[in-house]
Formats: sequence, structure tokens, C-alpha cells
Amino acid sequence: MSQIKQWFVPGRVNLIGEHLDYNGGITLPFAIDRGVTVKARRRDDDRLALWSDGEHVQVPVAAQPGEVEGWAAYVAGAAWALRAAGHPVGGADLVIESNLPQGAGLSSSAALVCGAVLTLADLGGTDLDRHDAAAIAQLAETDFVGVPVGRMDQLAVLLSQPGHALAIDHRPDPPATSDVPCDPAAAGLALAVIDTRTRHALASGEFTARRAECQAACDELGVEQLAAAPVDAVLRLTDPTLVKRTRHVITEQTRARGAIRALGAGAWTQLGGMLFSSHESLRDDYEVSCPELDLAVEVALEHGALGARMTGGGFGGGVIALVPVERAAGMAAAVGEAFARRDLPAPVVAPVRPSPGATLVR
Ligand code: ADP
Ligand code: MG
Repeated sequence: MSQIKQWFVPGRVNLIGEHLDYNGGITLPFAIDRGVTVKARRRDDDRLALWSDGEHVQVPVAAQPGEVEGWAAYVAGAAWALRAAGHPVGGADLVIESNLPQGAGLSSSAALVCGAVLTLADLGGTDLDRHDAAAIAQLAETDFVGVPVGRMDQLAVLLSQPGHALAIDHRPDPPATSDVPCDPAAAGLALAVIDTRTRHALASGEFTARRAECQAACDELGVEQLAAAPVDAVLRLTDPTLVKRTRHVITEQTRARGAIRALGAGAWTQLGGMLFSSHESLRDDYEVSCPELDLAVEVALEHGALGARMTGGGFGGGVIALVPVERAAGMAAAVGEAFARRDLPAPVVAPVRPSPGATLVR
């Protein structure tokens, strides 16, 4: 029997700096203690045989963009992007196990793609640098799956250190990363993810629309990346939608810088305030929130959270709340009751802690 390679790749939460990665800004994600495990071994033919969640799919290892549908595209895309980067990939069996909800804003997609990239590279005898692996995983998602994501998720799930958030400056290529201590437990605080379990179908179309709007604003302002726009940029734009999008990017960039300083100083209350300002900006200016996310944030703040905001792309998914440990259970119960009163699906509330990035299990 041929050798089995196994990687565990976590999901991630973005503390602040939302929708800034593809705008050349600063993001501050951390890997969480849940994720995707990929086990793989070589096959003698040139097929990828995939198992996940009771489903089995087979695709040719040389499949091209547009030829694979559904979740298998994330794995076939990993094989395609590895090959595009000049690394050998042969046929393989891959078994995927996960305790990460999909579409909840915890980046199950990056965990899956990165898990596939790392195991397929190992089977092909390639020892990948993690920044290179992130670039390959991003290419798989943008050019094979067809979602124009930035590189935050891949870097977060590959490079995070336990007890730290990963500050990423997306201006340079490749983005520059540094570890920022983030240990809320030591301050008697918990970070809780509230998965609203709503997934709005417009998410990917709206995401593509935001990217186009940011590009239009860049063109009008004559800048390469919107996060680099000067503060008076909003006065120079005429289209009210572009004004709002640009205002979010500029103010979120300021908040992300402030959050890094707040973490360094242990200024948790200030950090909480920035989380809520970020939520308001995403809701009113970037317009990627939805009633369920707004409700979860509002109830969390009423029940003890120092701050809360939607995290991830938006239009459903999850909220991150910073809450004193002794108030976490009461906050979770209150959110559940508020959702029940409105006949919304019961949200799932779970603590997360800053955890290590991808680990080779065997
Ligand atoms: P998020 O990354 O926030 O979880 P996405 O929409 O970007 O949301 O990615 C979710 C998609 O990733 C799923 O619809 C599915 O296609 C794929 N995916 C993630 N985890 C798995 C898994 N364990 N098995 C199969 N597909 C998965
Ligand atoms: Mg994703």
C-alpha cells in the first residue's frame, strides 16, 4: 500500500480589516481550532478520486477550468494550480473530513484548497514554501473555481501561530505578514463565533460586484489599490455608491491599524469599539450585511459583548463577538432567543481561539 499523507488545515476568523485583502489593505485574521483534514495517497491512473461527507466524485487530474462543478472544483483547482506553477501532480485518492461549517465565513474553502495543495504537493515530492502554497491556493479559487478572492484566507490558515493573529499587509506582492499577540483568554475574555446559519444566494454575485465597484473607484482616483487612496478621495468621487465603498475601505484600513495597536496594548475595550464600527461600515457603506447578521451583532452588544461584527464576505455567515467569559453563555442564550422569536434558524455559538496554521499530521 502506498504512503498516506495527511494534513490538518484550520478555518479562520478575520478580527478586522474586512474586504481589504483584494483592496491592498491590512487584514488581521487568526486560525481557529476547527478545520479540514485531508488524507491522500497516490493512484496508478491519472484521476483524482475524492470523498467528502458521504459523497464520492472522480475527476481527471488534468481537468481544466470550467470542466469541474461543485465542491470537487476546489480540489481539481488545487491540482491545476500546482501544475500551472510547475509542480508535478499525479492521480490520487483524497479523503476529506471537516468540522468546519461551510459558507459560515470561517473559510472552509481555503481550508479545503490549502489541504489539497499541501497533500498533492507532498505526494508529488514537492516541499512547498507556505507563501507559495497560499498563492497557488488563491489561484485555484480565483481561476478554477471562479470566485475572485484575495489572499487573506490562504495566508491565515497556512501561517497563523497559536495565541497570535496574523497581520497581513496586502500592498506588496507577496503580502507581508507579521504575528500579533492575541490572547483574549488571558484578559478574561472570549471570542465567540455566532454562525447565523443563513446563506444568502446573492453572496458570490455581490462579491464580484464589490470588486468591480472598487476597481471603478481606483480608475477614477488614479490609484492601483483602493486602500492606498488618500482620505479626501471620497470628496473627489461623484458616484454615491463608489463614495460609500471607498469610505468603507479607507476607514476600515484605519481601524485595522488601530486594532493592531490595541492588541499590542491589551486595550480590549477599544478593540471592541472598533469591531462595532467595522460592522456599521460594512452594513451601511459596503452594504454586505443582512438582517440576521445585524440582529446577532445587536443582541450580542446588548448582552455584554465589548464589540461584535460580521466576519467574512457577508450576506449571511457568521459574527465574531468579544465578550467577558462570564457573560458568554448569557449572550449566546439571548442571541438564540432573539432568533427564535423571529422564527429564524437557531444560530450556533461557539468559542474560538487563535490556533496554529496548517499542520502535517503524517
Ligand atoms: P466559506 O469559505 O466561508 O466556508 P465558501 O462559499 O467560500 O464559504 O466555501 C464553501 C464551499 O467550499 C462549499 O460550498 C463547498 O463547495 C466547499 N467545501 C468546503 N468544505 C468542504 C468539505 N469539507 N467538503 C466538500 N466541500 C467543501
Ligand atoms: Mg471561502
